[in-house]
Amino acid sequence: MPLLPHPIKEWLSFYRQVFQNVFREFEEHKVVVIDRTVSFSCSDCGRCCFTQDMGTFVYPNDIERMINGGGFLPLCCIFPQEDEWGNLSYAIPSKREWYETLQALPETMQDEPILIQAYLQMDHALSKLNPDLKILDESCIFYANSKPQNRCLIYEYRPTGCRVYPFDRFKISRVQVPPELIEKYQILGDTSEQDPFLYCDPACFTQSSTLKYKRIREDIVADKVNAILSTDVPDEFAEIDFSTELFRAFHHRTLESKDQGT
Ligand code: SF4
Ligand code: SF4
Repeated sequence: MPLLPHPIKEWLSFYRQVFQNVFREFEEHKVVVIDRTVSFSCSDCGRCCFTQDMGTFVYPNDIERMINGGGFLPLCCIFPQEDEWGNLSYAIPSKREWYETLQALPETMQDEPILIQAYLQMDHALSKLNPDLKILDESCIFYANSKPQNRCLIYEYRPTGCRVYPFDRFKISRVQVPPELIEKYQILGDTSEQDPFLYCDPACFTQSSTLKYKRIREDIVADKVNAILSTDVPDEFAEIDFSTELFRAFHHRTLESKDQGT
């Protein structure tokens, strides 16, 4: 793993430990129930990459995978998101959100010239990666609108939520917490029948296809664990904006590579 600032390393390592414990417990108690009778075939419509201003959630284990495999580019694009209960999580922004953030920099970062520079460097790198970045819609910054297929430009390193979609939706999988774990996790499980985040055409679920549920089961469980852990961040980490920390790290790395090139 490249050299990272101390708080980021601490955060990733803490999360890895907690994640592994919860994952193990979830599997032991069969907390995630998958309906294997549902058939699904993706029509490649791309609607799930249009994040409708919420961004694509990214968790520490996603960031770790991106750092180890894909370098700094994807992970530096995470934006903090706060839910109605004040829980902080991180997400890849839409193209529109990215643009609006850049436009607002002179005002929001007026005392942070280093960060402004880092954002501009990132914009430059992103524009090279995705020529469609300037299409200001709600699609993810890594979504190549004009490509006929394979439109995710970070496919190999895409976040867990993207890997499992729509197998994470209620139509296919649910969290059912056994009584002995309800108090510990403070959740009952998924009870809603309505799913506003199911974007696939209904026809996708009727086509016959052989689903490899076994292959993606681990990712489905990981996705559910991530969602639960995102509401339980310890105070020492809840107060740090890792988005800003990562932008700083990106900037330092860019400077270092420039130095080495001169
Ligand atoms: S990371 Fe890739 S799969 Fe996920 S929303 Fe963005 S373009 Fe789509
Ligand atoms: S919304 Fe569903 S059908 Fe469309 S690309 Fe995403 S997973 Fe495939």
